[in-house]
Amino acid sequence: PYDVLVVGGGPAGASAAIYAARKGIRTGVVAERFGGQVLDTMTIENFISVKNTEGPKFAASLEEHVKDYDIDIMNLQRVKGLEKNDGMFEVELDNGGVLKSKSAIISTGARWRQIGVPGEEEFKNKGVAYCPHCDGPLFEGKDVAVIGGGNSGVEAAIDLAGIVQNVTVLEFADELKADEVLQERLNSLPNVNVKTNAQTTEITGDENVNGITYIDRESGEEQHIALQGVFVQIGLVPNTEWLDADVETNRIGEIITNKQGSTNVPGLFAAGDVTDCPNNQIIISMGDGANASLGAFDYLIRN
Ligand code: FAD
Repeated sequence: PYDVLVVGGGPAGASAAIYAARKGIRTGVVAERFGGQVLDTMTIENFISVKNTEGPKFAASLEEHVKDYDIDIMNLQRVKGLEKNDGMFEVELDNGGVLKSKSAIISTGARWRQIGVPGEEEFKNKGVAYCPHCDGPLFEGKDVAVIGGGNSGVEAAIDLAGIVQNVTVLEFADELKADEVLQERLNSLPNVNVKTNAQTTEITGDENVNGITYIDRESGEEQHIALQGVFVQIGLVPNTEWLDADVETNRIGEIITNKQGSTNVPGLFAAGDVTDCPNNQIIISMGDGANASLGAFDYLIRN
């Protein structure tokens, strides 16, 4: 069996694996897609000490660093279940295989909920974005829309308003859902417009995004706004559907961890976007992975 088995091979999992291997203990990483969300990222400008890089390049150096250690990498393997029997974790793979480990770290990440309209897929990284902390500065001085008027959408709009020329918030319902204090802040900004009852139907463009089309649900009329960027902010979904109910999660399925990165199950840790940590960034996920790994090592030497 492994001493530490990491489930998920994004920034959090890679960091957890390296920290474990550096303790000289038997370490494995199983991942559906080694690299994780970073593989879908174009420009990364906020991984401190690396001024500017590209996602696939970053993912390749993650893998190279992990391979520098005696770590079993099991890539292109989906995990479908995890159980603890007689103090040993059993991780079940889609292909029927079972991996055993004395401790486990879940770092299966999260995915942005997609709006699912024409143009979204086509213009990803060409004007369609999901993360204002990551991509906001790429739209400096331009016009953008934010789809979604919940807390994350309104926070994104406030954030973007300080960088871009003009922000339009499109909300499907007849009112914004964000906290009152956020709405007040939003309404105080001169370069933000809010459209409620707005059903986005298409993101338009040629090479890059050039506009957004929506139906005004009150009048039934189709409207088009010319702009250069669209931030989709309708929720981030943690990849925990496969996980057993014994592991404590919050309302939206994120794994609850303590300061050591431990879940409610002894010996089971979690790190990165899959947890209830409020901020999802590469640098945060990596720190979280390191922390969970040291937590797992501490668990192992005490048990
Ligand atoms: P992930 O990167 O999501 O990795 C999860 C891993 O788990 C993957 O290997 C996946 O295949 C695996 N996995 C999932 N389910 C299973 C399963 N059932 N079985 C086996 N394996 C599984 N952050 C920044 O800091 N700067 C940026 O510029 C930036 N830009 C971004 C741009 C885009 C388009 C996106 C989508 C995200 C961006 N982010 C950025 C956010 C950043 O990518 C994430 O915060 C970070 O990747 C989270 O790392 P993670 O390891 O927790 O999860």
